[in-house]
Formats: sequence, C-alpha cells, structure tokens
Amino acid sequence: MRSLVILFIFLSIASCQSSSQPEPVQYSVPTEVEPYLKSFRDEASKRNKSVSTDNLIVTFGSAQSEDVCGQCILETGKTPQITLSSDDFCWKTASVNERECLVFHELGHCLLNRAHKTEKFPNGAYVSLMNPDNVAVYATCRYPIGGDECDKRDRRDYYIDELFDATTPTPVWGN
Ligand SMILES: [Zn+2]
Repeated sequence: MRSLVILFIFLSIASCQSSSQPEPVQYSVPTEVEPYLKSFRDEASKRNKSVSTDNLIVTFGSAQSEDVCGQCILETGKTPQITLSSDDFCWKTASVNERECLVFHELGHCLLNRAHKTEKFPNGAYVSLMNPDNVAVYATCRYPIGGDECDKRDRRDYYIDELFDATTPTPVWGN
C-alpha cells in the first residue's frame, strides 16, 4: 500500500514536470501507415470535425496493451504515440480494411480521447470501433465462410460516424 502511495506521488510529480516542459510538436508516421492517416483526415473533414494529426508518432514494434495489435500512449505534454504490432497478422497479412480499423481505433484513443466501449447491439455486433476485443468491425472476412458476418462493408460509415460522435444512433442493421 505504501509503495502504491509513493508511486502515485512520483507519477504526480512526473506528470507536473512533463506538462511544464511540453515536447515540441512532431509528426512521424511510417510511409505504409500514411494512407490511413490521410483517410482519417478525410473522414473527419467529411463530418466537419476538426482533428489535428500534426502531433503524432506512429511506430511498428510490440504492442503491450489489451489491444492485441496496437497501443496508444497519451501523456500530458508529450506527443501521442501509437505502436502498431509488427506481427504479420496485425499488418502484413491484414486487409486494407483491417488495417484501417486498427489505425482508426488507435487514433480514437490518441487523438479523439476515446476510451474502450464494450456494448453490443441486439444483433450481437459491437456498437463501436472502440471495442477492445475485435477492432475489425467493418473489415470484410479474410476467409470465405460466407454469411452476414462477412459482409460488413456497408457498416463502415456507421462505425466511422460513431468514432467521431459517440451519440450516433443505432443503425437499422443493429436491431
Ligand atoms: Zn483500444
């Protein structure tokens, strides 16, 4: 218990120090991730949301959080930092939509201050791209098993609406 208190005091001091000396604005995004940043900016402006992506670092590495393939670290005064897992199934062999879902989920944490949302619609689909269990909410299936679960392309607009506005009403297919 005492160590927890000391840790808390230490973190308080650390956060005070970092906020008094903010890191400079910096933008560093791998070339293969840049198209998804562009798409994020496009989707934001389509919805008249002003979201700056000017201060952001994205790297490939090993993500260590409840998001299997990614991680966002947000600290006061520091540049938001996203780590995408370099495991093949997270990126190399993932589809364009799966990659977009992953990047948008982490941008939701890092640029939109969104937390996880675990609720599901009556039909069992996740309410939000911000669910921690399966971010590929509108990605088409990699394997030809057929059925409704594999045809999620029409859901993309809803999930991106919800990403930028958590009060977006339930779509028809959610019931
Ligand atoms: Zn997450």
